[in-house]
Amino acid sequence: MKVTIAGVSKFFGQVRALHDVNLEIADGELFFLLGPSGCGKTTLLRCIGGFESVSSGQIMLNGEDVASRPANERNTAMVFQGYALWPHMTVAENVAFGLEMRKVPKDERERRVREALQRVQIEHLRQRKPNELSGGQQQRVALARTLVVEPGCLLLDEPLANLDAKLRRDMRREIRRLCKDSGLTGIYVTHDRQEALSMADRVAVLKDGVVEQVATPQDLYRRPASAFIANFIGETNFVSGTIKERSATGVLVETPCGLIRSSLSPEWAREGQDVLLSLRPEALSIGEGGDNTLSAVLRESTYLGEIANHVAEVAGGVELSFCELNPVSGGRAGEQVTLSVRASDVVVLPPSAER
Ligand code: ATP
Repeated sequence: MKVTIAGVSKFFGQVRALHDVNLEIADGELFFLLGPSGCGKTTLLRCIGGFESVSSGQIMLNGEDVASRPANERNTAMVFQGYALWPHMTVAENVAFGLEMRKVPKDERERRVREALQRVQIEHLRQRKPNELSGGQQQRVALARTLVVEPGCLLLDEPLANLDAKLRRDMRREIRRLCKDSGLTGIYVTHDRQEALSMADRVAVLKDGVVEQVATPQDLYRRPASAFIANFIGETNFVSGTIKERSATGVLVETPCGLIRSSLSPEWAREGQDVLLSLRPEALSIGEGGDNTLSAVLRESTYLGEIANHVAEVAGGVELSFCELNPVSGGRAGEQVTLSVRASDVVVLPPSAER
């Protein structure tokens, strides 16, 4: 199912939860809504599912405006964070419930329940009640209950929030597999960046009800559009500066730690303009050879075996965090080193108070 969100805004009284949101989600895509608490992601999901009306704009499912359609007529199915299972029903009854509502004949109902339970690997638990299940098993029942109605689009609201870290990682893979195997369109809300990076085809990052960027996980990480996103999506170092030269091959930026070259020059970048540079810790390495080299003194080093985390001071008193794979030794504070970074790893961002 293709999902189109066109100019959607949502107010709760004076509170603006969504502002002019425009998104095109392709058939079969696993699409993430990512952002900090209160950014509006759950509200958007609920608007798509029909649990909330929009204040303005349109939501289209396969090209049809669904404003007048209630949740149960939208061909979408929602997995809620708390699972919302019926406590007095068995697993099989919980999963069958939606089919009964739709008046599916008994034989077909039983077949589809069995298949849905098999798909999430809990057929052996069919006679249990929800309070006799672990968190992960309840999660699977909630998934089976939505898959059984064969929706065109699965809406997932922080579905793994109640699980422990190990189970969460396993379920990430499984939910992605379930969506991809069945060609289901999935819209998945989370504030967990790793969940989004590891599972999504594409991610929309929201902030204060506004979509800040829509991109693949790789582009979001390597080519963030703002300081907010660079910071939200991973560790980074910000260095402020002014563009000294702009050419076809990139920009040269004057910073307190010297001239830094970037091969990524955004369209808006002009000579003389103030910018913020984002340098990921793993983009910096000890040694010559990058397009940029910086003399540095190690101020702090934490040896962790396969990796060491360092803080180095470069010219202008600027401190940069970086990591070293296969470090040769531990406590090296005070050591003089040369740091290098490739021009293609220096992201040029508009200046921002958010650092
Ligand atoms: P979280 O990760 O904490 O669930 P979220 O990004 O999903 O956050 P929403 O729940 O969509 O955010 O809320 C967006 C904004 O709308 C918040 O400011 C919230 O307080 C407000 N809001 C949400 N639902 C209502 C409501 N029913 N009445 C009034 N305000 C609401």
